[in-house]
Amino acid sequence: MIIDRTKPVMVTGATGYVAGRLVEKLLSEGLTVHAAVRDPKNETKTAPLKELADKLPGNIHFFEADLLNDGSYDSAAKGCELIFHTASPFVRNVEDAQRDLIDPALKGTRNVLETADRVESVKRVVLTSSCAAIYGDAVDLLNYPNGTMTEENWNTTSSLEHQPYSYSKTLAEREAWKIAQQQSRWDLIVINPSLVIGPGINPNATSESFSIFKQIGKGDFKMGAPEYNIGAVDVRDLAEAHFRAAFSPEASGRYIISGESSSFGSVAKELKRKFPSYPIGDRKIPKWLIWLIAPAVGMSRKEVSKNIGYPWKADNSKSIRELQMTYRPVVESAVEFFQFLIDGNQIPKK
Ligand code: NAP
Repeated sequence: MIIDRTKPVMVTGATGYVAGRLVEKLLSEGLTVHAAVRDPKNETKTAPLKELADKLPGNIHFFEADLLNDGSYDSAAKGCELIFHTASPFVRNVEDAQRDLIDPALKGTRNVLETADRVESVKRVVLTSSCAAIYGDAVDLLNYPNGTMTEENWNTTSSLEHQPYSYSKTLAEREAWKIAQQQSRWDLIVINPSLVIGPGINPNATSESFSIFKQIGKGDFKMGAPEYNIGAVDVRDLAEAHFRAAFSPEASGRYIISGESSSFGSVAKELKRKFPSYPIGDRKIPKWLIWLIAPAVGMSRKEVSKNIGYPWKADNSKSIRELQMTYRPVVESAVEFFQFLIDGNQIPKK
């Protein structure tokens, strides 16, 4: 699918953390961005995007749209050949998982893709899914070939009660493939990132990525870090992946976007070395202790049982082969992310 770069491109959830670096990339390439956001009048959220548009070659126009308001993306999509659908809540602690996670993710994806069906100019949709749609808990990977997730795998273990965010991403991505297969005018490309870290464009974003690093800065892990293995990707590399997938005519299917696998422990150790005045423990906390204190650090005991101490492996070779992706080292992104949050007053200065 060849996308005409002179036509505008729509980005849903343009005020989000991940979308910020994507919009920056699009503007730097001279594209016109139709930023579909919940509240275009919210200056705290839109100002950093406007500042980028002022200094980069592209243009930005804001449109009001809500995932739960059917048809609200139609005007932003008008004239676009390309839609980036990034909007979806990424929060861990919710009061009502159905209302706060599943509905916006699933109904919102349906809403945006129905817009793609209605708006004749649309040729391609790039959906921001997650590795969370590929696996539920690290223990699941023991049953995957070579203990490694690939684009072939699906999360079958998350539910409304256990890992509801992962469940929301799984339902939304499955729905997206179903809708895409019912027509032939536009194709669907899915980006499946692991945990996203690294400096964004707005330190006031609400992404869960921020919460985790703010917890580290606050001293929640001053006793040490659990053996929580995880894959991570820099937000700037992720923007590049979205861009390459969108504009590579031969791109197709899902793409795992993840740098090397790391662990909370190794990230904490590097942060402690670079930011010695912060209360970051670099000892390994045993699993039983984390299990005991889990609710106090915002985890469920089931999550601890099924994730801590297990390896985390993802095969990112499709992204390297087909999108020529290269990845920044995870600890480097973590250090820059921590500094970005200090500079943005999200972590107290010391
Ligand atoms: P984020 O900063 O919280 O962005 C989420 C975006 O979704 C925000 O722009 C938010 O709009 C929008 N949104 C939420 N509910 C909405 C609604 N009802 N109607 C319209 N927009 C709504 O989080 P993020 O980390 O950038 O996440 C962006 C995407 O990346 C999500 O699809 C997420 O699942 C995916 N992802 C993230 C990570 C990660 O580690 N961060 C990893 C894998 C995948 P407002 O600005 O108005 O609140």
